[in-house]
Amino acid sequence: MKISLHNTMSRSIEPFEPLTNGLVRMYCCGPTVYNFAHIGNLRTYIFEDVLRRTLEYGGFSVKHVMNVTDVGHLTDDGDDGEDKMVKSSKETGRDVYEIARMYTDAFFSDTDALHILRPHVACRATQHIEDMIALIKRLEEKGHTYVSGGNVYFSIDTFSRYGELAKLNLEDLQSGARIDVDANKKNPKDFVLWFTKSKFENQVMVWDSPWGKGYPGWHVECSAMSMKYLGESFDIHCGGIDHIPVHHTNEIAQSEAATGKRWVKYWVHGEFLINETGKMSKSKGEFLTLTVLQKKGYDPMDYRYFCLGGHYRSQLVFSWKSMDSAKNGRKNLMKLIRGVHQDATKAIHSDLSDSAQKYLDTFFGHLGNDLNAPRGLATVWNLVKDNSVPASDKLFCLGEMDKILGLGLTVIEESEEPSTGEIPENIRALVDERIEAKSNKNYHRADELRAIVEEAGYKLTDTPDGTVVSKIV
Ligand code: AMP
Ligand code: ZN
Repeated sequence: MKISLHNTMSRSIEPFEPLTNGLVRMYCCGPTVYNFAHIGNLRTYIFEDVLRRTLEYGGFSVKHVMNVTDVGHLTDDGDDGEDKMVKSSKETGRDVYEIARMYTDAFFSDTDALHILRPHVACRATQHIEDMIALIKRLEEKGHTYVSGGNVYFSIDTFSRYGELAKLNLEDLQSGARIDVDANKKNPKDFVLWFTKSKFENQVMVWDSPWGKGYPGWHVECSAMSMKYLGESFDIHCGGIDHIPVHHTNEIAQSEAATGKRWVKYWVHGEFLINETGKMSKSKGEFLTLTVLQKKGYDPMDYRYFCLGGHYRSQLVFSWKSMDSAKNGRKNLMKLIRGVHQDATKAIHSDLSDSAQKYLDTFFGHLGNDLNAPRGLATVWNLVKDNSVPASDKLFCLGEMDKILGLGLTVIEESEEPSTGEIPENIRALVDERIEAKSNKNYHRADELRAIVEEAGYKLTDTPDGTVVSKIV
C-alpha cells in the first residue's frame, strides 16, 4: 500500500517514507486536562487515529506518543492569560491534581468510545519536569535563552529558521506587532520556557529548578517528552491547525536549537470542526462534548462516521441536522451490512473475487492518498450495494476496511435495530388499521388485514403488550 501525506512544512502532498525502515515514530499533541474534550478536539484525535491505522495497515510498526498537559497551559498560546488548570481549580474549588486526573479519565473514556486507539505512551507533563529542565539547560548553554523578570525566555532571534512552518514574515510581525503585555520580552514572539515570577504568585504546581521555584511553559513539554520517547528526530508530528503559528512553531525552535538537527519529517495538521456560528471553543462556556451527543441519542460511532465523511484538511461544520444525516447514513449502512451477514452464511468462497479485490484496492488507494476517508466511505457503500460481489467476499473486505475506519462495521448487534425498525410504512399502516379494527370489535376486518400483512411477508403476534410485527425469514 502506497501512502502519501500532506506535509504542512512543504504545503504539499509527499510520498511517506519513514526515517527508519518499517518503523514510524509519531507524536500527537494531547489534551489539556482542565475540562472535557469538546467534539472539535475529538475530531482531531479521530483523524490522527485514521492516520495511525492507515500506517499500520500499510505494514509499518507505529510508535504513537501523546502528551497530557496537566500543567502550564495558559488560556492564550502566546504566554498571556491565566493558567487553565488553576482557573478551573478556582472555578470548581477542586485541587488541580484531582482536576487533571478526572479529566484525563474522561478523555480516555471518550476516545475509547470513539474507537480511537490508545497511544503507546501517554505522558503527563507533571511527570517529566526533569526532562524539561534538562532541555532548557541545553538551550541556555547554547545561548538561546535569557532571564527577564524572573522568567526564562527563548530568544527567537537566535534561531534563524524561526517561523518556517507557519511561513511567518518576521519583519512584518516586528513592525506590526500588537502591544505585548509582557514587557520582559526582547522580541514579542519570544516565549517562556520556565516561569518563576509571573502573574500567578500562588501557583500550586511548582518545582525547584536552576532558575528558582516555578513551572514550565507549555511548548517545552512537547519538545522534551517527544524527544524522550521518540528520539531527537522522528517521523510525524500532528495536531490541529491552530497549533501551526505558535505552539508548533515554538516547539520546532526550541527542539532544533537544542539538537542542531531537523526535528520532525512530516507535519500533519487537521482542520477545525466549527459550528454554524464559527469556532468551537472551551472558553466560551457552553460547549459540545461526546456525552452531550450521547444524551441526545447519538452513538459515538455516529460521530466517528460524521467525521469520516469530511476530509481531515477541510473544515467541517457541525449542526444537529448534519449529525442526524450521519446517524441515518450509518444506520442504513449497518442495515445493508446485516443483510450481507445473513447472505454470507449461505455463501461459500475460497479466493477473493476480482471484483472484491478491486474494491479493496480502491479503498486503500483513497486512504493512502492523504487519508481520503470520505472517498473510502463511499467505496464501502458501493461495495455493499454491488450485487456482483459475493456476500462472504463483502464481509472480508468490510473487515479489512474497518481496520482503518474503526466503525465496527462487522459487529452486528441485534439491539442496534429493534424488530419494528425494518417494517415498511405501508405494513405499519395496515397493522395500525388492524389494531383499530380489533378495538372496534370488527374481527372480520382484523383477520382480513392479518392475511394481507402475512402475504406481504410479515408475521403478527398479539401479546399482552400489543402486536409485534416481524419479517418472515
Ligand atoms: P487542546 O486541548 O485545546 O490543546 O486541543 C487538543 C487538540 O484539539 C489540539 O490538537 C487542537 O489543535 C485540537 N482542536 C482544538 N479545537 C479544535 C476544533 N474546533 N476542531 C478540531 N480540532 C481542534
Ligand atoms: Zn504540543
